[in-house]
Amino acid sequence: MERKQSRETICVQAGWQPKKGEPRVLPIYQSTTFKYDTSEQMGRMFDLEESGYFYTRLQNPTNDAVASKIAALEGGVGAMLTSSGQAASFYAIFNICSAGDHFVCTSAIYGGTFNLFAVTLEKLGIEVSFVDQDACDEKILAAFRPNTKALFGETIANPGLAVLDIEKMARIAHSQGVPLIVDNTFATPINCHPFEWGADIVIHSTTKYMDGHASTVGGAIVDSGNFDWDAHKDKFSGLTTPDESYHGLIYTQSFGKMAYITKATVQLMRDLGSIQSPNNAFIINLGLETLHLRMARHCENAQKVAEYLQKDERVAWIHYCGLKEDKYYELGQKYLPNGSCGVLTFGLKGGRDNSIRFMDNLQLAAIVTHVADARTSVLHPASHTHRQLSDEQLIAAGVAPDLIRFSVGIENADDIIADIEQALEKAY
Ligand SMILES: *Cc1c(COP(=O)(O)O)cnc(C)c1O
Repeated sequence: MERKQSRETICVQAGWQPKKGEPRVLPIYQSTTFKYDTSEQMGRMFDLEESGYFYTRLQNPTNDAVASKIAALEGGVGAMLTSSGQAASFYAIFNICSAGDHFVCTSAIYGGTFNLFAVTLEKLGIEVSFVDQDACDEKILAAFRPNTKALFGETIANPGLAVLDIEKMARIAHSQGVPLIVDNTFATPINCHPFEWGADIVIHSTTKYMDGHASTVGGAIVDSGNFDWDAHKDKFSGLTTPDESYHGLIYTQSFGKMAYITKATVQLMRDLGSIQSPNNAFIINLGLETLHLRMARHCENAQKVAEYLQKDERVAWIHYCGLKEDKYYELGQKYLPNGSCGVLTFGLKGGRDNSIRFMDNLQLAAIVTHVADARTSVLHPASHTHRQLSDEQLIAAGVAPDLIRFSVGIENADDIIADIEQALEKAY
């Protein structure tokens, strides 16, 4: 049996496999189109009778190399890159839901995903019900309906930092004949492998740790190949009945375990077009080559910062699942044994005003609308991303008015702590 490569090696080696005389480094195929010798050759590809490149909106060799690296990291059968994490979330749902359908989602999710699901998908006739991910099976099951097509959650919620009980969620989803879709952005495949716990589809905002340098917005969808769409034929007719836009092709029959990701590529991406640019894919690939090194350092630094903050009497509360006192410590130990991520949240005594004064006095940590960057960054959701909400609405959304989202970078931990210390001194 071939030896299974570790994720560290996959980060560096997977994806682009040059043949004799080809570039060692992944080339950027900066071309919209690809040449063929006969009209017949090209025609066969439009009918999906032959695989090959013909137009970058559908597939591009640079993107495919990066997608295959991400698929290998997650242990999936295939992946597709998208122009953003938002596009990945949208396609992941829209690939199996259409007007009249419904899905269930955990309430502790990224604000952008919440808007997409609760407002924009609603306009397309797709309904969502939000559930408390920590509730018992019965309560979550009560949200399912005959037209429910998926269950969605985040491994580590942004910014609430709740850790998802993936095994429980997979059990619930499968008991209802639907897939579990997990947003694994914060954990990355270095720290969590949702497919090993029963998730069926994983999505990423590659904008965050995968890029890691805050230079490119991007996303990815990964298919485990494990969900049996044909066992629930009526629910997933888009995959199990003829697609007239491909002369009656049936995805599950023609592509087997690759049915879901193939439909996302050849149908949704063909029609909606939010492809990642090959240039951006190249940059994400550079990020992936050091993902394993950076994640270890992010987690090590965040743990030190969390322990420092926990001891400081000016800190009112802190959330980081690496702390023994944290509500999610046990789930963190189970699903994220090597560390969670570099993001932690906390509040200062004296509330919102002190939190703002503290942030304004930080020097090394920069105020930016971003997380998961090599550089330490900080955000006050109540003043920024969630600015339009009242204090009551903030609390309902799981964002305390004094919540500081602190994304620990890969600088020296003592320097980060020294910056926090001087800012705390000035805030009081
Ligand atoms: C940022 C983020 C997204 C959206 O990704 P973009 O690349 O900004 O579109 C989705 N999910 C999570 C958990 C995120 O942090």
